[in-house]
Amino acid sequence: KNITIAIDGFSSTGKSTVAKQIAKHLGYVYVDSGAMYRAVTYYAMQNGFIDDKHFNVEGLVAKLNTINISFKFNNAMGFAEVYLNGVNIENDVRTLEVSGFVSKVAEISEVRQKLVEKQQQLGKDGGVVMDGRDIGTVVFTDAELKLFMTASAETRAQRRYSELIERGDDVTYEAVLKNVQERDYIDTNREDSPLRKAKDAIQIDNSNMSLQEQFDKILKLAKT
Ligand code: C5P
Repeated sequence: KNITIAIDGFSSTGKSTVAKQIAKHLGYVYVDSGAMYRAVTYYAMQNGFIDDKHFNVEGLVAKLNTINISFKFNNAMGFAEVYLNGVNIENDVRTLEVSGFVSKVAEISEVRQKLVEKQQQLGKDGGVVMDGRDIGTVVFTDAELKLFMTASAETRAQRRYSELIERGDDVTYEAVLKNVQERDYIDTNREDSPLRKAKDAIQIDNSNMSLQEQFDKILKLAKT
C-alpha cells in the first residue's frame, strides 16, 4: 500500500537528504515543502516586494495568484527540482539571502493557505514523502507515518555551511549559525507556529546518526 510519510523538523536537520533516499527506495514522490516557501520568497525579492529595508506584504499577497510553483524530476540529480512560472529556480532558492527572508514570508497566512492547498494536491494519491514544518500537523494530519527530526543548532549550521561552501557561496559559519537560530526562533515563537511535533509523530534526534542509520530506521518504520 502506498502510504504518506510526513517529515517535520527544524532547518538543516537533514530531513531532505534522507527523505529523498526513502522516496527513491520506495518509488514514491518526494516533495520539499520548504522549497515552495523559498520560491515565493525568491519571487518577492525579484519583484521588489522585499529587501533589507522594506517588506510589502500586501503587494505580495495581491500577486499570489500569478505565482505558479511546480516540481519537475531531474534524472541526473535524482530528485524533483522547483520551478517558478516555468523557470527552474532550484539553485536560486538555496542562497543565504533567501534563507534570511523566508521565515517572514512563511508567516503570511495567505501564503501558507496557498501552499498547503498545493501540497495537499501533490500528495492526494499517497505514495509521497513530504518534508517541512507542518506536514504532520496541518498538511497531512492522517499520514500513516509522521517523523519529527531534531539535531543541535550547531550540528545543523555545520551541515548547511558545508553545503553552501560546496556550491561556492561566500559565507561564514557564524552567519549560517545566526540564520539557523533566527529561523528556529521565528518558526517556533509565533502564535500559530508551523513547527509543532504532532502527537503521533516519532521523534528522531540525528545529531549522532549516520545517514545510513537514519535511512534504515525510517524504512523499518515505513514497513510496519
Ligand atoms: O526546509 P527549509 O529550511 O528549506 O524551509 C525554509 C523555511 O520555510 C523555513 O525556515 C520555514 O520558515 C518555512 N517553512 C514553513 N513550512 C513548511 C516548510 C518550510 O513555514 N512546511
